[in-house]
Amino acid sequence: MFALALMGMLWLFQTMFLEQYYEREMEKKIQTAVSSLSLQYAISEELDLEAYLQEIGDISSANDMYFYIEAEDESFSISSTDQGSAGRYYYSRSGVDLARERLEANNGEPVTFKISNQTGETITQVYAAKVDSEYRPNVRFFAFAPLTPMGPAVGILAKQLMTVTAISLVVAGILALYISSRIARPIRNITEKASELAEGNYDVEFQGSSYREINNLAGTLNATAEALSKTDRLQRDLMANVSHDLRTPITMVKSYAEMIRDISGGNEEKRNEHLGVIIEESDRLTYLVNDILTLSRIQAGVETMDMQPMDLQKTAESILSTYRVLEDQEGFSIRLQTLPETLLVSADVHRMEQVLSNLISNAVRYSGETKDVEVVFRRNRKWLRCEVRDKGIGIAPEDIENIWNRYERVSSRGARSKEGTGLGLSITKEILERHGAKYGVESKLGEGSTFWFELPLID
Ligand code: ADP
Repeated sequence: MFALALMGMLWLFQTMFLEQYYEREMEKKIQTAVSSLSLQYAISEELDLEAYLQEIGDISSANDMYFYIEAEDESFSISSTDQGSAGRYYYSRSGVDLARERLEANNGEPVTFKISNQTGETITQVYAAKVDSEYRPNVRFFAFAPLTPMGPAVGILAKQLMTVTAISLVVAGILALYISSRIARPIRNITEKASELAEGNYDVEFQGSSYREINNLAGTLNATAEALSKTDRLQRDLMANVSHDLRTPITMVKSYAEMIRDISGGNEEKRNEHLGVIIEESDRLTYLVNDILTLSRIQAGVETMDMQPMDLQKTAESILSTYRVLEDQEGFSIRLQTLPETLLVSADVHRMEQVLSNLISNAVRYSGETKDVEVVFRRNRKWLRCEVRDKGIGIAPEDIENIWNRYERVSSRGARSKEGTGLGLSITKEILERHGAKYGVESKLGEGSTFWFELPLID
């Protein structure tokens, strides 16, 4: 279509408007020549007649024009044919008479018109103007220029254009086919695959092409499909896990309650032991439900962070004090290394407590035989860094990325760990991200882990 439009435009200009264009150009040319000559005639007191006549002859032969100049008082007349000009063929007495008539009819204002000979074969462009001069007689200027008939030229051009049009249409067609196969087809392919993806088929594979942009698009869509399938799997696991995790404590509560009713009701010691299990399981249920709620609320963006200046080191100290009892009862070594100065960060106090609690309770739970837990604060230029270290079971490199995901439980996969809900680290991650914190973990299987995060200090 573009090639066709281009060719159409060429046709229009080259054939239909060519004649008009040519005539307008000739008109302009003739006017320029006359105004230059008449200026020379009129402007100065001195006029080197010899040189002036030479000039008239030069312009005349260079432009294929004929000039005729006559004094109004009929004292003289000059014509460029006197100089042997090429233009003499277009001169005719009747032409000059007609031009004079028109000039006078126009009150001496310049006129331009065309005349043709009897047969109509040659057409001449005529221009007439009056030139007043202080120094010498006023004159009339007449200029004649032959107009070449455009018909034959247009015919040749039209023929050439026909060939050019045919060639360009063929080339444009080939190009369009090529482009469509290189760009349009892969895009159509991708669109088809994308609608398959929209219908829930996450196994689709988007194919790129030789174009980098399309390749990038295909790459991004492949990554999207993978992420979607992962989310889908996670959601399914989540449902399974949640229902499993909820069902287990409920079953426990029910069976222990039945046990008390049927067996241990009269035996105080046994009954208290069974009641203890019921209380423990109810607590677990509460944690679980709370964790699920918190995580969903944070992820859904319902929960807003209430940012306030906060002394994180003090918070860590108070949380650790609740773990001190483990030191006496179970032989844990729990240490805290703080910085001497008070350093404030901007954070949601309640949520940050939750982060520290999660990390510390994980360190305690996964500290293994060493029972060694340490919380260390450091200053990293404008950031406050908190590290929670243990020398316990550690995490295998291939699991490290996954532990931040919901229900990802490495050490107790399949089995039920004593306390965790498998949601602690995903909650921690969400909270830290909402605070714009940096965070991470360094861990070696069998040697322990260091979970860390950094928050910007308030100046
Ligand atoms: P959980 O309730 O199972 O502890 P989390 O989300 O807190 O859930 O942790 C996810 C998983 O990350 C844990 O199940 C455990 O496998 C691993 N993990 C977390 N903290 C540690 C740690 N300090 N040492 C070793 N593994 C850990």
